[in-house]
Amino acid sequence: MFKVNSDYLKLRGSYLFSEIGRRVNEYQAANPDKKIIRLGIGDVTRPLTPTIISALHEAVDMEGREETFKGYAPDLGYAFLRETIAENDYKKRGCDIESDEIFVSDGAKSDSANIQEIFSRDNKIAVCDPVYPVYLDSNVMAGRAGDYDEKEEKWKGVVYMPCTAENGFCPDLPEEIPDIIYICSPNNPTGTAMKKDELQKFVDYANENHSVIIFDAAYEAYISEEGVPHSIYECADAKKCAIEIRSFSKNAGFTGVRLGFSVVPKELKSADGYDLYSLWKRRHGTKFNGAPFIQQKAGEAVYSPQGREEIKGLVSYYMENAKVIREGLKSAGFTVYGGVNAPYIWLKTPDNMSSWDFFDHLLKNAGVVGTPGSGFGPSGEGYFRLTAFGSHENSAEAMGRIADL
Ligand SMILES: *Cc1c(COP(=O)(O)O)cnc(C)c1O
Repeated sequence: MFKVNSDYLKLRGSYLFSEIGRRVNEYQAANPDKKIIRLGIGDVTRPLTPTIISALHEAVDMEGREETFKGYAPDLGYAFLRETIAENDYKKRGCDIESDEIFVSDGAKSDSANIQEIFSRDNKIAVCDPVYPVYLDSNVMAGRAGDYDEKEEKWKGVVYMPCTAENGFCPDLPEEIPDIIYICSPNNPTGTAMKKDELQKFVDYANENHSVIIFDAAYEAYISEEGVPHSIYECADAKKCAIEIRSFSKNAGFTGVRLGFSVVPKELKSADGYDLYSLWKRRHGTKFNGAPFIQQKAGEAVYSPQGREEIKGLVSYYMENAKVIREGLKSAGFTVYGGVNAPYIWLKTPDNMSSWDFFDHLLKNAGVVGTPGSGFGPSGEGYFRLTAFGSHENSAEAMGRIADL
């Protein structure tokens, strides 16, 4: 008699975006002529750049059919890509990461959801609140989150680290010591980034308590300020306690191409003396047959001189939107955060409106769609996320409409 994994039944995640869709559709049906501007999107909108497209072509348009035949990719990634990553993302920043500590994957969502598999089921996790939902949901599915407290809107077995205006959206060190700490910086959804000394505190705390940090650096390319670390390995002794996850999605527009990687340093050991590197390698070898050759060739092209220039262009396109949205909201009297080192703008709802009330207000009176902050965690209540992933035209038009509210 087969049964399902009952931990999967506990998941609540799909509510947020389906509820947004429902409300938007209902409004559009009642107002068929109204142009709705969607600033809730967490996906890129600009096309792949020419260098990437050529690299994709080159990987398949080879002279003979024999040459295009590659067979299975090495499950940890091709050396040409792992070496390029080690050199450009780490060595050039003074981080001592070797190419064989880099595990190429199909993206940061898979890695950030799967990495928990190598940890004990009774390990306790800590997440920022608000948070990118994948960290929590993957641990719920693994039976590591306990029961859901409807009243508190929290998982009873999880340590929450509130990130609010009061602490500048930088989490305080948790009092109850977790085993696994998830940090995303620059952050989705708040758009804020941790400074190096702030991140160093977490690294020291993790090393003191033998916790591990899962550091999601998917928005690294958006950092514009000095003093904001691009990698957690810029912090002293981070190799003893941190795994870093990266993606080609938000910098190079690979959301539909699929490519990412994780760094698991060899010296990172569990409290019971096992190295996580070997376990993650075993996990890859057993459950993953390697990212496609074609994608990895495109990934390599991201680091070419021309590729870099183009990627800079993509990032600055979105960051111009971020500036327009930030400035537009500010001059309309809103209190805004983020949008300087990340393509997300996090605003305080006016007059203590709830996140969902503000969602309806903005949809009905400005025809603009964003994401209610409460959907990312209880501390997101009273906040609202807009993204810079739209077009220049739509971002500017949305701000015009908001100014007229
Ligand atoms: C978009 C996003 C990802 C997903 O990246 P993929 O490589 O496309 O899977 C991971 N982490 C955060 C915080 C994101 O916002």
